[in-house]
Amino acid sequence: MSYSGLSLLSNALTGNTRWPSIIDVSDLQKSYDIVIIGGGGHGLATAYYLAQNHGIKNIAVIESGWIGGGNTARNTTIVRSDYLLNSSFALKNFALGLWDQLSQDLNFNLMYEPRGYVDLAHSDGELEHFTLRANAMLLGGADAQILTGDALQARVPELDLSGAQRFPIAGALVQEAGGVVRHDAVAWGFARAASKAGIHIFQNCPATGIIIQNGKLEAIDTPQGRIRCGQALISVAGASCEVAGLAGLDLPLNSINVQAFVTEPIKPALDTVVNYNAGLSYISQTDKGEFVLGGATDGYSSFARRGSFERIEDVLARAAQMFPFLPRLRLMRHWSGTADITMDGNAIMGPTPINGLMINGGWGYAGFKATPAVGHQMADLLATGQVPDLMCPFSYDRFEIGTEQDDGGIGPYPWLH
Ligand SMILES: Cc1cc2nc3c(=O)[nH]c(=O)nc-3n(C[C@H](O)[C@H](O)[C@H](O)COP(=O)(O)OP(=O)(O)OC[C@H]3O[C@@H](n4cnc5c(N)ncnc54)[C@H](O)[C@@H]3O)c2cc1C
Repeated sequence: MSYSGLSLLSNALTGNTRWPSIIDVSDLQKSYDIVIIGGGGHGLATAYYLAQNHGIKNIAVIESGWIGGGNTARNTTIVRSDYLLNSSFALKNFALGLWDQLSQDLNFNLMYEPRGYVDLAHSDGELEHFTLRANAMLLGGADAQILTGDALQARVPELDLSGAQRFPIAGALVQEAGGVVRHDAVAWGFARAASKAGIHIFQNCPATGIIIQNGKLEAIDTPQGRIRCGQALISVAGASCEVAGLAGLDLPLNSINVQAFVTEPIKPALDTVVNYNAGLSYISQTDKGEFVLGGATDGYSSFARRGSFERIEDVLARAAQMFPFLPRLRLMRHWSGTADITMDGNAIMGPTPINGLMINGGWGYAGFKATPAVGHQMADLLATGQVPDLMCPFSYDRFEIGTEQDDGGIGPYPWLH
């Protein structure tokens, strides 16, 4: 069924009891052309673009939990392309272009809102670095502005620019095309479109084994049976090390807990996304009126998805420096996700040393914005066997050959990226 004003009205009149299931239930076949391990946004987008752009539909997506249970629907919904390195910028800017049309393409309202991304600098030196980034973005064809003083105050009226804080605000890099996208809608929008194209999606179906013979992928094991396949993609975010380990691969990344929070809802007070860079604390207001906040990683490796008072205090103290009215609000919910962070803080995408086995991981707490671009590029790779240009810099072997993609210049300290 297509979603339209008419279908909304007719279903409302019949008590909303006649909506069909969003994804079809299928029987697991003994073999598929391609198995995608991980039913998050990245895996589902790959499945969708394989069908949409290449006509390849004999695909199984196997998800250990439920659609939208991973980082895709745990993130803070921010999309932007304000990166310094050409490689990072190009992929995320390609994604920004795709977000723009995606609700129409998927016939699913993803609530993409380019409401702007305001990245705060706290010293003249930092502002100079932001100017370098802004110039790189402009050269790449994106919008970018440096705002200071009254211009910044006019853009974000509630921001405290009095200079009274411990880390006064010197200015900001603003990307107006950045913004937010409703994250669980992304997972379900891609799942629905992929299922409609004939792709089989299985929830509660983890990959438990990767069968390899003579260096070539043969099959994926699941509790529901063995699936033979020509190719497979590992796209499991925080579980990347674990699942790649099933194929004997040792990935250069750590899994680290990242937390997020929402306050009680109030009337509209903030129409953009603001990021405080001294430490890390970023904030936006949802359409429901809640403020969504996020911050730095927990700083140590862990698969435990849980909160901590330390991070609440850290993120909220910094947010209160930006917006002094915030301490009057109550925190309503708090959750976390396992971020897979590499030694240079950038993703690993492409073929692995095992013939037929591809990897997409290492997106840490920055991969949501790239979701449609990852799906698009990964589908190209699986369909043609050629690594697309945008994906080349993120190769599996870049740490071995010394071509790290370290946007922050931070070095091999995953918890700092
Ligand atoms: C708190 C937080 C805030 C974030 N904020 C932002 C943000 O504002 N902007 C941004 O761009 N990025 C953000 N991110 C990062 C972003 O969410 C991720 O990089 C992105 O969603 C990864 O997408 P994915 O599809 O690879 O992962 P997921 O959605 O996690 O999908 C992977 C799936 O694999 C499944 N899986 C695991 N093991 C197996 C197995 N053995 N077999 C089968 N399936 C398996 C999991 O259940 C999961 O559903 C944030 C992350 C967190 C945790």
